Amino acid sequence: MRNAGLGSWPERRAVISPDRVALVHGSRSTTYAELYERIRRLAAALLAAGVSPGDRVAYLGPNHPAFVETMFATYFIGGVFVPLNFRLTAPEIDYQLRDSGARYLIYGPECAEAVAGLSHVVPGTPLTAYEKLLSEHGEAQVAAVAVSLDAPACILYTSGTTGRPKGAVLTHGNVVWNCYNLLVGVDVGGDEVTLISAPLFHVAALNQCLLPTFLKGGCSVIMPAWGVEECFELIARHRVTWMFGVTTMYAGLAQSPRWADADLSSVRNLIVGGASIPPELIRIYLARGLKFCQGYGMTETAPGATFLEAPESAGHVGSAGVPVFFAEVRCVRPDLSLVEPGEPGEVQVRGPNVTPGYWENAAATSSSFAEDGWFRTGDIAVVSADGHYRIVDRLKDMFVSGGENVYPAEVEAAIFEHPAIAEAAVIGVPDEKWGEVGRAFVVLVPSHSLTADELRAFLAGRLGRYKIPKYLDIVADLPRTGSNKVRKAPLRELPLPK
Ligand code: ATP
Ligand code: MG
Repeated sequence: MRNAGLGSWPERRAVISPDRVALVHGSRSTTYAELYERIRRLAAALLAAGVSPGDRVAYLGPNHPAFVETMFATYFIGGVFVPLNFRLTAPEIDYQLRDSGARYLIYGPECAEAVAGLSHVVPGTPLTAYEKLLSEHGEAQVAAVAVSLDAPACILYTSGTTGRPKGAVLTHGNVVWNCYNLLVGVDVGGDEVTLISAPLFHVAALNQCLLPTFLKGGCSVIMPAWGVEECFELIARHRVTWMFGVTTMYAGLAQSPRWADADLSSVRNLIVGGASIPPELIRIYLARGLKFCQGYGMTETAPGATFLEAPESAGHVGSAGVPVFFAEVRCVRPDLSLVEPGEPGEVQVRGPNVTPGYWENAAATSSSFAEDGWFRTGDIAVVSADGHYRIVDRLKDMFVSGGENVYPAEVEAAIFEHPAIAEAAVIGVPDEKWGEVGRAFVVLVPSHSLTADELRAFLAGRLGRYKIPKYLDIVADLPRTGSNKVRKAPLRELPLPK
């Protein structure tokens, strides 16, 4: 096949389903035919601006059709797309622009202010408004550049949960195989209406929602920003069938006063991933007939590594599923021997969805692959005798108290069972007697209260003593990444309470 790359998708969809709605944003709907036409105009503008195949084109802006159009226009001309997290500071964005060697930075509608502070920190990277680019080139006589599936498609920066975000290269093939893996695991017809409720610069919204929906000719309803009320409203108005979220988003829906009455009857695929989900929350959804498909993965695996299909989920609460259809996953000891069922080990992945490495960062790339070529996720899991993966925690987050390993995710799940708790994060802090002990940061459900003694008493029957946090901090909110995951590094820097 001459061109299997992602840049060929818009034309194929415009031929197969020209009149179906591809994108909804506010009151505006765009069909596949209209989308293809806009993508070609943008592609022509990028070519005229001197962007060549292989050049990196960065994009900055919240969720908007402009993101989708710029991404496909970049693929159309054989460029490498670099979506940036618009919530980062100017120096952080500058770092990613330099790191990726971006030749061009396009910013979305209403983002002029956000980039105003950037132009002098990004010498040599022209800044252009998407609208300006689109208006410059009316009639486009351009054809999609043929690329191999092994060519880099995008550089996606990891969430930065454990440190500075790393630029993972995903090839066209990585993305295509991930779409296949996802479509194997979800319940799809030809009528998908997918709510893009997470930020598109993150791998989950992009590759677990937008692109598989596009491949099927479905409709993506784009939320500019997350909001519980808006989510309920859009699900009901558009009869949403498919959605991805992280734990905080689903917890927010379940804790809303509208939860009981909200019409969620259209939802077939409720995907959760990116961080662990407390079993209690799974049960709350199950109680109203909503089954999660739990996915485990990461930017570097495009992202799906394991997946729990909805029909299996009720019988496997707490499982992140089994390896996706087209990838291999193993759980190993430090010497790379396979663990026994129930024994914690590091998850490693090999397959067509795995990144070739980090952009121009040979050191990070080589330390992320085991000597036999498997990708080292840095996550700990236990595998059951029937092959289900339960993600225990990140290697980096585990701490040791009195000689025993403590996995904060397990402690957080137990804390979450308390009715006063809206969110929880646990870290290990130094302790003279035990080496390390737990420190829990919790956000309370409005108008609830909780003392450290009450929490300890609640946890006493649920967790071994060494796992019960010594410290409790009640906070207004938790520091988060752009993709809404808790960042523990800032919590570790806080002084201990006296
Ligand atoms: P960084 O690599 O920059 O520290 P990050 O690892 O959070 O950030 P992502 O690629 O967005 O960046 O997230 C992948 C990680 O999220 C996984 O390695 C794992 O730690 C966590 N994760 C993903 N899915 C799950 C899940 N279902 N259960 C528990 N943890 C998960
Ligand atoms: Mg990571």
